[in-house]
Amino acid sequence: MSSNHDPNCIFCKIAEGKIPSKKVYEDEEVLAFHDIHPWAPVHFLLIPKRHIVSMAHVQDGDAPLLGKIMALVPKLAQQEGCRPYPEGGFRVVTNTGADGGQEVPHLHFHVIGGPRPWLKG
Ligand code: 5GP
Ligand code: ZN
Repeated sequence: MSSNHDPNCIFCKIAEGKIPSKKVYEDEEVLAFHDIHPWAPVHFLLIPKRHIVSMAHVQDGDAPLLGKIMALVPKLAQQEGCRPYPEGGFRVVTNTGADGGQEVPHLHFHVIGGPRPWLKG
């Protein structure tokens, strides 16, 4: 278990429950929690619990995990208050590396939605 986590990684600490978060969803492999600085009425992060640094580090064997995360997006977006498509909807963002604007080096998918205006985007 510990080999799946980076002891210096803030999202690993959240995944392990060492740092509290406002959880949206959790299972053995995946955690979703509210972003601490939301841009919009709905803004949560979906992460693999295992420490994957970024989308640039994803390998073929990660496909089932990523597929599971993508399939969770519409369910959790609706659960968290995003209005139905097409009037509502949501945005899914994965910043990757310095040029991509990634600040936390643990793969995460922002799910952002709710009525506009938003603070960003
Ligand atoms: P990035 O810029 O890497 O795509 O996004 C990192 C996101 O993580 C930011 O939106 C930031 O607000 C959020 N974040 C950073 N630290 C914490 C934390 O300790 N708890 C929570 N809930 N969100 C965090
Ligand atoms: Zn991590």
